[in-house]
Amino acid sequence: MNPVDPKAPYDDSNIFARILRGELPCTKVYEDEWAFAFHDIAPVAEIHVLVVPKGKYVSWDDFSVHAPAEEIAGFVRAVGRIAREMDLVEPGYRIINNIGPNGGQIVPHLHVHLLGGRVMGPMLDRNWQPA
Ligand code: AMP
Repeated sequence: MNPVDPKAPYDDSNIFARILRGELPCTKVYEDEWAFAFHDIAPVAEIHVLVVPKGKYVSWDDFSVHAPAEEIAGFVRAVGRIAREMDLVEPGYRIINNIGPNGGQIVPHLHVHLLGGRVMGPMLDRNWQPA
């Protein structure tokens, strides 16, 4: 898959739009007015949930510029609530949002990775050196 242009217009045919419309299957873990969450198809942790806003936003850039405050609050609160409901707060967890080519975003509908159930290790490769 090609990396996502975080400023591209929203494409209604993307995988997560199709999951939100019920056209593709998923293993749902949560839904409310603002957010929808399901298990990642290729998990990298015991718990690997994707949380997506119900609104049509390509990326964090798009969302943080264009979403109304109520929608941003609803989405952020949903991420926190899902973590609590999955008992992830005490052991700890990681949330990741990839943006654009350098971030490694593949699906052009904003999604937060919610990862838990394992020690996540360093945030990034500590062997990285400036060019
Ligand atoms: P990103 O690289 O941040 O865009 O992450 C995209 C994520 O979507 C990857 O972790 C994929 O494993 C996941 N993914 C792709 N297709 C599906 C699907 N049909 N159901 C659940 N997760 C998916």
